[in-house]
Amino acid sequence: MFPVPTSLSPSRVEAFTSCPMAFRFASIERLPEPPSPHATKGSLVHRALELLFTQPAEARTVAAAEPAFHQAVTEYQADPEFTLLGLSAAEADTFVADAWALVLKYFDMEDPRTVRDIGLELRLEAQVGSLTLRGIIDRLELDADGGLIVTDYKTGRAPGLRYEQNRLAGVHFYSFLCEEVLGRRPKEIRLMYLRTGETITATPSAQSVRFITTRTTAVWKAVEKACQQDDFRPRPGALCNSCAYQPWCPSFGGDPSLAATEAPLKFGALAA
Ligand code: SF4
Repeated sequence: MFPVPTSLSPSRVEAFTSCPMAFRFASIERLPEPPSPHATKGSLVHRALELLFTQPAEARTVAAAEPAFHQAVTEYQADPEFTLLGLSAAEADTFVADAWALVLKYFDMEDPRTVRDIGLELRLEAQVGSLTLRGIIDRLELDADGGLIVTDYKTGRAPGLRYEQNRLAGVHFYSFLCEEVLGRRPKEIRLMYLRTGETITATPSAQSVRFITTRTTAVWKAVEKACQQDDFRPRPGALCNSCAYQPWCPSFGGDPSLAATEAPLKFGALAA
């Protein structure tokens, strides 16, 4: 039997529904896992854009983005999330060049001088019953009529139509948090895919907010049951290719009970 978590974030909800076994390793046992180049690059680009937005609106030009980006690179060069990637000098150059290309793509998608931001990397939390829902909003802004817009930057590719609703569920989660914490439902939620230059938008409604509480409560009940019965089933799929916990996954002949001792030895000090 495992202790039942008392809080959930959109990514944790998604993680449990994708594979309960991987969720157990990462979120219940909190086992370390190695950093991934994709996730680290995403964090670096988010940080560069956050720094850009600390400038007054009229100063947010490509020229101003360069020092912001270099500051973010300097910060990450000392971060285990980057150093443990073990990149060669040439690989690190390619990594940084690709991250900069994502920042430049951002400028093709919108002019940050026109954005009326009122919050960056905003941490919000709200209660649903005894469960705390937590999320970090990349950017909260006002449109011309004073409506709230939630924007989330994505550094991967835009999902196919089949997965689009799943991704939007994460953003509806943020709109739910906004409504709970700020007392106003956002007018629009936007996912900006910096890799492809696509923007997916959705308009939150009473129904979409209700859907979030219903879905999150259902996922939390499933998590609670899995913890109480020690029943986290593996769900093999595309994620397995990049799953650091594969050596202890029953679907690959592994023993989950060994992960708690072996994963820290294999992956070192990085906490999941
Ligand atoms: S290897 Fe696949 S099935 Fe096993 S824990 Fe990881 S994601 Fe889940």
